[in-house]
Amino acid sequence: MQLRISRMDAINNKSVTEAALRKAKDKLEKLKFALVKVDDEDFGICIQCKKEIPLGRILIMPQARTCVNCSH
Ligand SMILES: [Zn+2]
Repeated sequence: MQLRISRMDAINNKSVTEAALRKAKDKLEKLKFALVKVDDEDFGICIQCKKEIPLGRILIMPQARTCVNCSH
């Protein structure tokens, strides 16, 4: 029984780890995208209002082309 619980724990931990890994990979892809785009002269500039997009937003979603206000 003890072994069974440990095994379940291991399986749970594995799925948690895999989910975290997927998230990390997803983030990495976004950051790679940002790295390519950072050379564009309009990178970080909202395509709607031409204002700067806050860095925090870019880090969360580098593919964003608009600021928070214009995305609504
Ligand atoms: Zn805007």
